[in-house]
Amino acid sequence: MEYRPTIGLEIHAELKTRTKMFCDSANDPDEARPNVNICPICTAHPGTLPAINREAVRHILRIGTAVGGTIADWSEFDRKSYFYPDIPKGYQISQYAHPLVSGGTLAGVALTRIHLEEDTARSIHVGGKAGDTERSECTEGGKSFVDFNRAGIPLMELVTEPVIHDAKTAGDFARELQLLLRALGVGEANLEKGEMRIEANVSVSNKEGKLGTKVEVKNLNSFRSVERAIAFEIDRQIALLEKGGEVIQETRGWDETKQITFHQRSKEVSADYRYFPEPDLPKLFLSEIPEFSPENIRASLPELPWERRTRYAPLGLKTDDVEFIIASDVRNIFFDAVIQELGDTRESVILAANYFISDLAGESDGITPASFAKLIRMVSAGDLSSRGAKDVLMVIVKGGGDPEKIAKEKGLVQVHDTTVLTAVVEVVLAQEGKAVQEYKNGKQAALQYLVGKAMRESRGAGNPETLREILLAKLNLK
Ligand code: ADP
Ligand code: MG
Repeated sequence: MEYRPTIGLEIHAELKTRTKMFCDSANDPDEARPNVNICPICTAHPGTLPAINREAVRHILRIGTAVGGTIADWSEFDRKSYFYPDIPKGYQISQYAHPLVSGGTLAGVALTRIHLEEDTARSIHVGGKAGDTERSECTEGGKSFVDFNRAGIPLMELVTEPVIHDAKTAGDFARELQLLLRALGVGEANLEKGEMRIEANVSVSNKEGKLGTKVEVKNLNSFRSVERAIAFEIDRQIALLEKGGEVIQETRGWDETKQITFHQRSKEVSADYRYFPEPDLPKLFLSEIPEFSPENIRASLPELPWERRTRYAPLGLKTDDVEFIIASDVRNIFFDAVIQELGDTRESVILAANYFISDLAGESDGITPASFAKLIRMVSAGDLSSRGAKDVLMVIVKGGGDPEKIAKEKGLVQVHDTTVLTAVVEVVLAQEGKAVQEYKNGKQAALQYLVGKAMRESRGAGNPETLREILLAKLNLK
């Protein structure tokens, strides 16, 4: 039987803001000491009142605008009720019926919505039966600690439509979202640090036009696990259906060691959460706030990842190289400045990308775009060999300096003056009668041998390309 897999993603990302979502405690993801950035509001003391973080709302509106979503005329927050030690109010302030953003597309995937909510505290479980600290529950004999530094940090939640049909597309979507959040400067979105958390809803169907029962997969801590977990889940569900079984709606975890998904709990339905509008916060009439006008938000957007790709396309760089450069603002700014310096040719830009990625590993510490471009021009002009360029680069990275001066000091400048090199070739041809004869008898390797001899005769300073050309011309005359 033919099965069609379907995937919808739900992605949470911590936003970078000065303070938390509903109070003025610091939002500092690097704080290692527990319970430092806290106050009566984010620790849920009775009688405290939340206030909406303007910066967090602005971040979501910028994300929503970048993906071409519709910004709500007005929006509101809702209480999502559930009981858990890391959510001491007994509810999370989230958004339900009136999210900030609806629709939009990213990496070709249709989005349902983007909304804002608060993060929960972090639970840490130690001791007990299982012994490890990474699990999600306290076991018998163990202890649980709650760290409230994370409680109330602004969280973006983005939901896609169920329109993805393979694991790779889901992974690519998540990578593109990470790029976008970084380009906008709204979040670091590191998966390993839990700054971005991906949940994949997976189903398979063999009926035209009808979706199967979905399973939600959690604990996906890398893009690779996202793809592997989805692929595993698709296979598991198909095997189950083939045996005449039935997929049940549940939440499954991804076991990184065993590379399998496992049952965690049966899925709660939205009615369980008893959503209702948060009575302690005002409705947000977005269209009445000048700072949030579509023009202002649009004007605040930097060049977006897909715009960078389009701009780089005519340069003829390899896809992987472009992705590497656009993945970081620092790399992007440096490389753009180098392109500017080089001005013209595609070849020199491609050459620049090779040295930037292979030799500098994308690091531009210690070298200016101007001096890097000068080095590239020397290579293009044949004044510096590829080996020589690498040596000069290493000197500049360590202590700065002018590429031309360094190349001269180290005796790396290549001679491509034809008068000088013709004299060199004459000497070699006079000495190497045997090789000359071999070449004439059709032995191609003899030419390479003669180029080598000429290089040696010039004490390594001769440009091999020029020497080769002169040799060929002379040999074909004789
Ligand atoms: P719930 O009410 O269970 O949270 P939603 O309709 O809100 O379900 O969808 C949550 C996520 O699950 C969305 O990303 C959506 O695209 C995805 N989804 C919904 N139905 C399916 C399905 N049958 N197969 C795969 N993904 C689905
Ligand atoms: Mg839902």
